[in-house]
Amino acid sequence: MSSNEYNKLFTIKTTSKDCKARTGIITTRHGRIETPAFIPVATKASAKAMTSEQMNQLGAEILMCNTYHLFLKPGAELVEKMGGLHKFMNWNKPIITDSGGFQVFSLGYGLVHKANKIKSKLSEDEITHLERIDKTTKEGNKDMMLAKISGDKVKFRSVYDTSWQEFTPETSISIQHKLGGDLIIAFDECTSPLHKYEYVKESLARTHRWAEMCLAYHKKNVKKGEKEEEEKKGEKGKKEEKGGKEEEKGEKEKEETEKIEKEEKLGLWKGKSEEKPNQFLLGVVQGGNFEDLRKESAGFFANKEFDAYALGGFFGEDKQEMYKLVGIVDEILPENKFRHLLGIGTPEDIILGVEQGIDTFDCNSATRIARVGYIYILPESGGNIENKFRYRLTNAEFEYDKNPLDKNCDCWVCKNYTRAYIRHLLKAQEYTGYTLASYHNLYFFINLMKRIRTAIDEGKFMEMKKEWLG
Ligand SMILES: [Zn+2]
Repeated sequence: MSSNEYNKLFTIKTTSKDCKARTGIITTRHGRIETPAFIPVATKASAKAMTSEQMNQLGAEILMCNTYHLFLKPGAELVEKMGGLHKFMNWNKPIITDSGGFQVFSLGYGLVHKANKIKSKLSEDEITHLERIDKTTKEGNKDMMLAKISGDKVKFRSVYDTSWQEFTPETSISIQHKLGGDLIIAFDECTSPLHKYEYVKESLARTHRWAEMCLAYHKKNVKKGEKEEEEKKGEKGKKEEKGGKEEEKGEKEKEETEKIEKEEKLGLWKGKSEEKPNQFLLGVVQGGNFEDLRKESAGFFANKEFDAYALGGFFGEDKQEMYKLVGIVDEILPENKFRHLLGIGTPEDIILGVEQGIDTFDCNSATRIARVGYIYILPESGGNIENKFRYRLTNAEFEYDKNPLDKNCDCWVCKNYTRAYIRHLLKAQEYTGYTLASYHNLYFFINLMKRIRTAIDEGKFMEMKKEWLG
């Protein structure tokens, strides 16, 4: 495969003059993603409490599913027999799956070290696992929480039933091939903040060796040119959907034509090539918070035939250290391949990441914190860096509040429902409450990315950064 062909996965539109921020388009067989993009997390093939139709309606262009969880439940074979994740979930747009590496390790020693990305809060899965381990440890099994590496095999405990499972780099790619995501991620070792330099160095060598194994397996086994029919059907479906709303039709068609014209000018891939792989492989840059190891890792990946890159693992004690390292990595990686920042995505993180050249982000916090009553708000509605652009809807002051979640938000929830109602649903633990709060929070991020893209295209990204972060 020529490198030219690989480059067509990502096209840069605009690059900022005063920082590394850029806009671009990622093109897959299931459609295009405008970058910088926020990727909502659909861990177990569902963005919790949200249907695929709702995700489409709020403007999500891609979802991230989790290899570790889907491997354990319902199993990759089942998903494959059901036609792959797109058909299984009724989601016609792009999907990215991660390698499972983060869960394999973070649910192992990450828990022991009680930390993950930067100074950590444990995720729901980690807490469930911790409670289970606590119980079993009390029963006398002290070493069960460790993921065990021998050679290129990793043995780990299932978060569901504590049974022993095994991953190799090839297994991870093979599972991701079966799941059928458009973008897949090489298997890596995710080190914890408590690991010392020597261990991280040794681990990095392993991650690089595994990356080469993943790449070799992927190139040999990836399917090509099979999804075109499906894509055409997807386009047809979208058109029929649009037909229902007459007043929006003219506007949407105009938008669509403009979009195609723009893309033609950029020379984007049209989805015709038989050689275009169905799935693209991302390599994961690791190296903890050690500058020389991050540089070494970026240098290693810069010369390999990966389609794009993900930045993973621990990045330091605070945001300043983190974005310094992200910036260093960005300078070494080839600029024509997009880069994804794994598992990070508060509004502040996204803006700082974009400034350092990050193109895509994933984070589960929009839906996770929605379920406990945290609602995101725009700067014009009082959102700022101190309140983390959110407020707690379950507070008593909102009991009789007839306002929408955010008076400046134009999402479907804010057009139709009051704070008092959604607050009541959340207090009563009604599922609809989770849906409405999640919908608004996800829309907040989709809308934030649109604003970022417009700001970059208009040469005003630094202005926007000031407006949001001060
Ligand atoms: Zn809203």
